[in-house]
Amino acid sequence: MTEPLHPGATIGILGGGQLGRMLSVAASRLGFQCHIYEPGAAPPAGHVAARVTTAPYEDLAALRAFAQSVDVITYEFENVPTASLDALEAICPIRPNRRALAVSQERIAEKDFLTGLGLITAPYARVTDLASLQAAIAQIGTPAILKTARLGYDGKGQARIMTPEDAPAAWAAMNGAESVLEGFIDFSHEVSVIAARGLDGSVACYDPGENVHRAGILHTTTLPARLSPTQRSDAVLIAARILNALDYVGVLGVELFVTPRGLIVNEIAPRVHNSGHWTQAGCAVDQFEQHIRAIAGWPLGDGSRYADVVMENLIGEDVDKVPALARERATQIHLYGKAEVKPGRKMGHVNRVINRLT
Ligand code: AMP
Repeated sequence: MTEPLHPGATIGILGGGQLGRMLSVAASRLGFQCHIYEPGAAPPAGHVAARVTTAPYEDLAALRAFAQSVDVITYEFENVPTASLDALEAICPIRPNRRALAVSQERIAEKDFLTGLGLITAPYARVTDLASLQAAIAQIGTPAILKTARLGYDGKGQARIMTPEDAPAAWAAMNGAESVLEGFIDFSHEVSVIAARGLDGSVACYDPGENVHRAGILHTTTLPARLSPTQRSDAVLIAARILNALDYVGVLGVELFVTPRGLIVNEIAPRVHNSGHWTQAGCAVDQFEQHIRAIAGWPLGDGSRYADVVMENLIGEDVDKVPALARERATQIHLYGKAEVKPGRKMGHVNRVINRLT
Protein backbone atom coordinates (compact mmCIF):
# COMPACT_ATOMS: atom_id res chain seq x y z
CA MET A 1 0.00 0.00 0.00
CA THR A 2 1.59 3.27 -1.06
CA GLU A 3 -1.63 5.16 -1.83
CA PRO A 4 -3.13 7.06 1.13
CA LEU A 5 -5.81 5.10 2.96
CA HIS A 6 -9.31 6.31 2.29
CA PRO A 7 -11.75 7.05 5.08
CA GLY A 8 -13.68 3.86 5.74
CA ALA A 9 -10.50 1.75 5.62
CA THR A 10 -9.63 -0.38 8.65
CA ILE A 11 -6.56 0.06 10.83
CA GLY A 12 -5.39 -2.95 12.83
CA ILE A 13 -3.81 -2.21 16.22
CA LEU A 14 -1.79 -4.78 18.17
CA GLY A 15 -2.50 -4.09 21.83
CA GLY A 16 -5.67 -2.76 23.38
CA GLY A 17 -4.49 -0.60 26.27
CA GLN A 18 -4.90 3.14 26.69
CA LEU A 19 -2.59 3.93 23.78
CA GLY A 20 -4.66 1.72 21.48
CA ARG A 21 -7.78 3.39 22.84
CA MET A 22 -6.56 6.92 22.11
CA LEU A 23 -5.27 5.83 18.68
CA SER A 24 -8.72 4.39 17.93
CA VAL A 25 -10.43 7.65 18.88
CA ALA A 26 -8.07 9.61 16.62
CA ALA A 27 -8.57 7.12 13.78
CA SER A 28 -12.33 7.26 14.03
CA ARG A 29 -12.21 11.08 13.89
CA LEU A 30 -10.48 10.66 10.52
CA GLY A 31 -13.19 8.27 9.34
CA PHE A 32 -11.27 5.02 9.83
CA GLN A 33 -12.40 1.92 11.66
CA CYS A 34 -10.12 0.13 14.12
CA HIS A 35 -9.69 -3.56 14.76
CA ILE A 36 -7.87 -4.30 18.01
CA TYR A 37 -5.87 -7.49 18.61
CA GLU A 38 -5.36 -8.07 22.31
CA PRO A 39 -4.76 -11.20 24.40
CA GLY A 40 -6.36 -9.81 27.58
CA ALA A 41 -10.10 -9.64 28.22
CA ALA A 42 -12.03 -6.35 28.13
CA PRO A 43 -9.27 -4.11 26.71
CA PRO A 44 -9.70 -0.33 27.20
CA ALA A 45 -9.47 0.15 23.41
CA GLY A 46 -12.38 -2.25 22.93
CA HIS A 47 -14.81 0.42 24.18
CA VAL A 48 -14.08 2.67 21.22
CA ALA A 49 -12.92 0.35 18.39
CA ALA A 50 -15.17 -1.23 15.77
CA ARG A 51 -13.83 -4.75 16.33
CA VAL A 52 -11.76 -6.67 18.85
CA THR A 53 -10.00 -10.01 18.44
CA THR A 54 -9.19 -11.62 21.79
CA ALA A 55 -6.40 -14.14 21.20
CA PRO A 56 -2.79 -14.74 22.27
CA TYR A 57 0.07 -13.28 20.20
CA GLU A 58 1.14 -16.87 19.45
CA ASP A 59 -2.17 -17.81 17.74
CA LEU A 60 -1.08 -17.69 14.09
CA ALA A 61 -4.55 -18.53 12.72
CA ALA A 62 -6.13 -15.64 14.66
CA LEU A 63 -3.31 -13.31 13.60
CA ARG A 64 -3.80 -14.22 9.92
CA ALA A 65 -7.55 -13.65 10.12
CA PHE A 66 -6.88 -10.28 11.79
CA ALA A 67 -4.35 -9.27 9.10
CA GLN A 68 -6.83 -10.19 6.36
CA SER A 69 -9.48 -7.94 7.88
CA VAL A 70 -7.38 -4.74 7.98
CA ASP A 71 -5.60 -2.39 5.53
CA VAL A 72 -2.55 -1.55 7.66
CA ILE A 73 -1.26 -2.82 10.99
CA THR A 74 0.26 -0.74 13.76
CA TYR A 75 0.91 -1.41 17.43
CA GLU A 76 0.86 0.12 20.87
CA PHE A 77 2.87 -2.75 22.30
CA GLU A 78 6.32 -3.54 20.96
CA ASN A 79 6.94 -6.99 22.41
CA VAL A 80 5.02 -8.98 19.82
CA PRO A 81 6.93 -12.23 19.01
CA THR A 82 8.91 -12.30 15.75
CA ALA A 83 7.06 -15.34 14.35
CA SER A 84 3.76 -13.52 14.84
CA LEU A 85 5.05 -10.49 12.98
CA ASP A 86 6.21 -12.75 10.10
CA ALA A 87 2.68 -14.15 9.80
CA LEU A 88 1.13 -10.68 9.83
CA GLU A 89 3.58 -9.05 7.45
CA ALA A 90 3.03 -11.73 4.80
CA ILE A 91 -0.53 -10.40 4.53
CA CYS A 92 -0.53 -6.72 5.44
CA PRO A 93 2.00 -3.89 5.88
CA ILE A 94 3.17 -3.19 9.45
CA ARG A 95 3.97 0.42 10.31
CA PRO A 96 6.32 1.33 11.92
CA ASN A 97 8.41 -1.36 10.25
CA ARG A 98 9.96 -4.53 11.65
CA ARG A 99 13.40 -3.02 12.07
CA ALA A 100 12.02 -0.36 14.41
CA LEU A 101 10.44 -3.10 16.48
CA ALA A 102 13.53 -5.31 16.50
CA VAL A 103 15.73 -2.42 17.61
CA SER A 104 13.47 -1.37 20.45
CA GLN A 105 12.54 -4.85 21.70
CA GLU A 106 16.01 -5.50 22.97
CA ARG A 107 18.10 -2.99 24.91
CA ILE A 108 21.48 -4.16 23.58
CA ALA A 109 20.36 -4.03 19.93
CA GLU A 110 18.89 -0.59 20.69
CA LYS A 111 22.11 0.76 22.16
CA ASP A 112 24.21 -0.78 19.36
CA PHE A 113 21.92 0.94 16.84
CA LEU A 114 22.02 4.31 18.63
CA THR A 115 25.78 4.36 19.16
CA GLY A 116 26.19 3.22 15.53
CA LEU A 117 24.43 6.47 14.55
CA GLY A 118 26.98 8.42 16.57
CA LEU A 119 24.51 9.17 19.37
CA ILE A 120 25.53 8.98 23.01
CA THR A 121 24.04 6.38 25.36
CA ALA A 122 25.04 5.25 28.84
CA PRO A 123 28.10 2.96 28.72
CA TYR A 124 26.73 -0.58 28.52
CA ALA A 125 27.72 -4.24 28.49
CA ARG A 126 25.86 -7.48 27.90
CA VAL A 127 25.35 -9.69 30.97
CA THR A 128 24.43 -13.38 30.79
CA ASP A 129 25.61 -14.67 34.18
CA LEU A 130 27.23 -13.53 37.43
CA ALA A 131 30.75 -13.74 35.98
CA SER A 132 29.88 -11.50 33.00
CA LEU A 133 28.15 -9.08 35.41
CA GLN A 134 31.32 -8.89 37.51
CA ALA A 135 33.39 -8.31 34.35
CA ALA A 136 30.92 -5.60 33.24
CA ILE A 137 31.16 -3.87 36.64
CA ALA A 138 34.96 -3.93 36.38
CA GLN A 139 34.69 -2.30 32.93
CA ILE A 140 31.89 0.25 33.58
CA GLY A 141 32.29 0.90 37.30
CA THR A 142 29.65 1.79 39.89
CA PRO A 143 27.05 3.08 40.42
CA ALA A 144 25.35 1.21 37.62
CA ILE A 145 21.94 -0.20 36.72
CA LEU A 146 21.29 -3.77 35.62
CA LYS A 147 18.25 -4.09 33.33
CA THR A 148 16.71 -7.12 31.63
CA ALA A 149 17.50 -6.88 27.92
CA ARG A 150 13.87 -7.55 26.98
CA LEU A 151 10.40 -6.82 28.34
CA GLY A 152 11.30 -4.05 30.78
CA TYR A 153 9.00 -1.07 31.24
CA ASP A 154 8.18 1.53 33.90
CA GLY A 155 11.39 0.68 35.76
CA LYS A 156 10.46 -3.03 36.03
CA GLY A 157 13.24 -5.62 35.67
CA GLN A 158 15.91 -3.23 36.99
CA ALA A 159 18.38 -3.35 39.88
CA ARG A 160 20.73 -0.65 41.10
CA ILE A 161 24.34 -1.62 41.79
CA MET A 162 26.06 0.78 44.16
CA THR A 163 29.16 -1.35 44.88
CA PRO A 164 30.58 -4.54 43.29
CA GLU A 165 29.26 -6.47 46.32
CA ASP A 166 25.69 -5.81 45.06
CA ALA A 167 26.34 -7.99 41.99
CA PRO A 168 24.94 -11.36 43.23
CA ALA A 169 21.65 -9.83 44.46
CA ALA A 170 21.25 -7.77 41.27
CA TRP A 171 21.86 -10.80 39.06
CA ALA A 172 19.39 -12.87 41.15
CA ALA A 173 16.75 -10.15 40.57
CA MET A 174 17.01 -10.71 36.79
CA ASN A 175 15.76 -14.32 37.20
CA GLY A 176 18.38 -15.62 34.77
CA ALA A 177 17.25 -13.31 31.92
CA GLU A 178 19.86 -11.86 29.58
CA SER A 179 20.54 -8.33 30.81
CA VAL A 180 22.48 -5.18 30.16
CA LEU A 181 24.59 -3.28 32.68
CA GLU A 182 24.38 0.47 32.20
CA GLY A 183 26.65 3.03 33.78
CA PHE A 184 24.69 5.44 35.97
CA ILE A 185 24.16 8.79 34.26
CA ASP A 186 24.35 11.83 36.51
CA PHE A 187 21.61 13.80 34.76
CA SER A 188 20.00 17.07 35.83
CA HIS A 189 16.62 16.15 34.36
CA GLU A 190 14.89 13.94 31.82
CA VAL A 191 13.19 15.07 28.62
CA SER A 192 11.58 13.30 25.71
CA VAL A 193 10.92 14.14 22.12
CA ILE A 194 7.88 12.83 20.32
CA ALA A 195 8.54 12.82 16.60
CA ALA A 196 6.78 11.57 13.51
CA ARG A 197 7.81 10.55 10.01
CA GLY A 198 5.41 10.23 7.13
CA LEU A 199 5.33 7.71 4.32
CA ASP A 200 6.88 10.40 2.08
CA GLY A 201 9.86 10.78 4.47
CA SER A 202 8.78 14.13 5.92
CA VAL A 203 9.55 14.60 9.61
CA ALA A 204 7.69 16.61 12.27
CA CYS A 205 8.85 16.85 15.88
CA TYR A 206 6.91 18.07 18.87
CA ASP A 207 8.61 20.39 21.32
CA PRO A 208 10.52 18.31 23.92
CA GLY A 209 8.74 17.79 27.25
CA GLU A 210 10.34 17.46 30.68
CA ASN A 211 9.51 14.24 32.53
CA VAL A 212 9.37 13.51 36.24
CA HIS A 213 9.05 9.89 37.37
CA ARG A 214 7.76 8.56 40.68
CA ALA A 215 8.57 4.99 41.68
CA GLY A 216 9.80 4.34 38.13
CA ILE A 217 6.51 5.47 36.53
CA LEU A 218 6.03 8.71 34.61
CA HIS A 219 4.32 11.22 36.91
CA THR A 220 4.33 14.50 34.96
CA THR A 221 5.43 15.90 31.61
CA THR A 222 5.89 19.68 31.56
CA LEU A 223 6.04 21.94 28.51
CA PRO A 224 8.24 23.80 27.93
CA ALA A 225 11.15 21.66 29.15
CA ARG A 226 14.16 23.36 30.71
CA LEU A 227 16.48 23.29 27.70
CA SER A 228 18.75 25.81 26.06
CA PRO A 229 17.99 26.64 22.40
CA THR A 230 20.96 24.44 21.40
CA GLN A 231 19.77 21.51 23.52
CA ARG A 232 16.27 21.89 22.10
CA SER A 233 17.49 21.67 18.53
CA ASP A 234 19.88 18.81 19.44
CA ALA A 235 16.92 16.86 20.85
CA VAL A 236 14.94 17.32 17.67
CA LEU A 237 17.93 16.44 15.47
CA ILE A 238 18.53 13.24 17.46
CA ALA A 239 14.92 12.17 16.90
CA ALA A 240 15.02 13.00 13.19
CA ARG A 241 18.23 11.05 12.78
CA ILE A 242 16.71 7.95 14.38
CA LEU A 243 13.55 8.21 12.27
CA ASN A 244 15.48 8.52 9.01
CA ALA A 245 17.92 5.71 9.86
CA LEU A 246 15.01 3.34 10.50
CA ASP A 247 13.03 4.50 7.43
CA TYR A 248 10.36 4.91 10.06
CA VAL A 249 6.68 5.61 9.46
CA GLY A 250 4.62 6.73 12.46
CA VAL A 251 5.25 8.37 15.83
CA LEU A 252 8.33 7.59 17.93
CA GLY A 253 9.24 8.56 21.49
CA VAL A 254 12.86 9.28 22.40
CA GLU A 255 13.78 9.60 26.09
CA LEU A 256 16.84 11.70 26.83
CA PHE A 257 18.94 12.50 29.89
CA VAL A 258 20.10 16.13 30.12
CA THR A 259 23.71 16.32 31.32
CA PRO A 260 26.51 18.90 31.23
CA ARG A 261 28.09 16.67 28.53
CA GLY A 262 25.00 17.03 26.33
CA LEU A 263 21.96 14.88 25.69
CA ILE A 264 22.25 11.16 26.31
CA VAL A 265 19.69 8.79 24.80
CA ASN A 266 18.03 6.57 27.41
CA GLU A 267 15.63 4.63 25.21
CA ILE A 268 13.32 4.81 22.23
CA ALA A 269 9.74 3.62 21.94
CA PRO A 270 8.40 2.84 18.45
CA ARG A 271 4.91 4.12 19.20
CA VAL A 272 2.90 6.92 20.69
CA HIS A 273 4.27 7.62 24.14
CA ASN A 274 2.92 8.55 27.56
CA SER A 275 5.16 11.63 27.59
CA GLY A 276 3.39 12.82 24.40
CA HIS A 277 -0.11 12.97 25.91
CA TRP A 278 0.30 16.72 26.49
CA THR A 279 -0.05 17.22 22.70
CA GLN A 280 -3.80 16.61 23.13
CA ALA A 281 -4.05 20.01 24.81
CA GLY A 282 -1.06 21.81 23.31
CA CYS A 283 -1.19 21.25 19.54
CA ALA A 284 -3.63 21.37 16.66
CA VAL A 285 -2.71 17.79 15.74
CA ASP A 286 -1.87 15.53 18.69
CA GLN A 287 0.46 12.51 18.67
CA PHE A 288 -2.40 10.06 18.15
CA GLU A 289 -3.78 11.76 15.05
CA GLN A 290 -0.21 12.28 13.81
CA HIS A 291 0.50 8.56 14.09
CA ILE A 292 -2.70 7.63 12.27
CA ARG A 293 -1.96 10.20 9.54
CA ALA A 294 1.56 8.78 9.09
CA ILE A 295 0.60 5.11 8.88
CA ALA A 296 -2.36 5.94 6.61
CA GLY A 297 -0.01 7.69 4.20
CA TRP A 298 -1.61 11.08 4.83
CA PRO A 299 0.40 14.32 5.12
CA LEU A 300 1.67 14.98 8.65
CA GLY A 301 -0.29 17.60 10.58
CA ASP A 302 0.85 20.72 12.40
CA GLY A 303 2.41 19.77 15.73
CA SER A 304 3.60 23.22 16.74
CA ARG A 305 2.87 23.99 20.36
CA TYR A 306 0.38 26.76 21.17
CA ALA A 307 0.22 26.36 24.96
CA ASP A 308 2.29 25.59 28.03
CA VAL A 309 0.91 22.34 29.38
CA VAL A 310 1.47 20.02 32.32
CA MET A 311 0.38 16.41 31.84
CA GLU A 312 -0.14 14.42 35.03
CA ASN A 313 -0.77 10.68 35.08
CA LEU A 314 -3.53 9.34 37.29
CA ILE A 315 -1.94 6.24 38.79
CA GLY A 316 -3.93 3.79 40.92
CA GLU A 317 -6.04 5.63 43.49
CA ASP A 318 -5.21 9.03 41.95
CA VAL A 319 -8.35 8.34 39.95
CA ASP A 320 -10.37 9.15 43.08
CA LYS A 321 -9.40 12.79 42.48
CA VAL A 322 -11.50 12.95 39.31
CA PRO A 323 -14.54 14.70 40.86
CA ALA A 324 -12.25 17.48 42.14
CA LEU A 325 -10.35 17.62 38.85
CA ALA A 326 -13.63 18.01 37.00
CA ARG A 327 -14.11 21.32 38.82
CA GLU A 328 -10.82 22.71 37.38
CA ARG A 329 -12.00 24.51 34.28
CA ALA A 330 -8.77 24.42 32.22
CA THR A 331 -8.03 20.77 32.93
CA GLN A 332 -8.62 18.18 30.22
CA ILE A 333 -9.47 14.77 31.71
CA HIS A 334 -8.71 11.47 29.98
CA LEU A 335 -9.85 8.24 31.63
CA TYR A 336 -8.99 4.86 30.20
CA GLY A 337 -12.11 2.94 31.23
CA LYS A 338 -10.20 0.39 33.35
CA ALA A 339 -12.60 -1.32 35.70
CA GLU A 340 -10.12 -2.35 38.37
CA VAL A 341 -7.92 0.12 40.25
CA LYS A 342 -4.51 -1.36 41.11
CA PRO A 343 -1.43 0.29 42.65
CA GLY A 344 0.88 1.46 39.84
CA ARG A 345 -1.82 1.04 37.18
CA LYS A 346 -2.26 3.93 34.74
CA MET A 347 -5.96 4.81 35.08
CA GLY A 348 -5.96 8.08 33.14
CA HIS A 349 -4.22 11.42 32.83
CA VAL A 350 -5.00 15.11 32.90
CA ASN A 351 -3.63 17.91 30.76
CA ARG A 352 -3.55 21.31 32.42
CA VAL A 353 -3.18 24.28 30.13
CA ILE A 354 -0.99 26.71 32.06
CA ASN A 355 -0.62 29.45 29.51
CA ARG A 356 -1.77 29.97 25.95
CA LEU A 357 0.88 31.21 23.54
CA THR A 358 -0.31 33.57 20.87
P1 AMP B 1 14.08 2.88 31.71
O1 AMP B 1 13.10 1.79 31.99
O2 AMP B 1 15.32 2.42 31.07
O3 AMP B 1 13.44 4.05 30.99
O4 AMP B 1 14.47 3.48 33.14
C1 AMP B 1 13.52 4.06 34.01
C2 AMP B 1 14.11 5.25 34.75
O5 AMP B 1 15.27 4.86 35.51
C3 AMP B 1 14.62 6.35 33.81
O6 AMP B 1 13.58 7.20 33.40
C4 AMP B 1 15.65 7.03 34.71
O7 AMP B 1 15.00 7.90 35.63
C5 AMP B 1 16.27 5.90 35.46
N1 AMP B 1 17.45 5.39 34.71
C6 AMP B 1 17.43 4.42 33.76
N2 AMP B 1 18.66 4.22 33.26
C7 AMP B 1 19.50 5.05 33.91
C8 AMP B 1 20.90 5.31 33.84
N3 AMP B 1 21.72 4.64 33.01
N4 AMP B 1 21.41 6.27 34.65
C9 AMP B 1 20.59 6.95 35.50
N5 AMP B 1 19.27 6.74 35.62
C10 AMP B 1 18.71 5.81 34.84
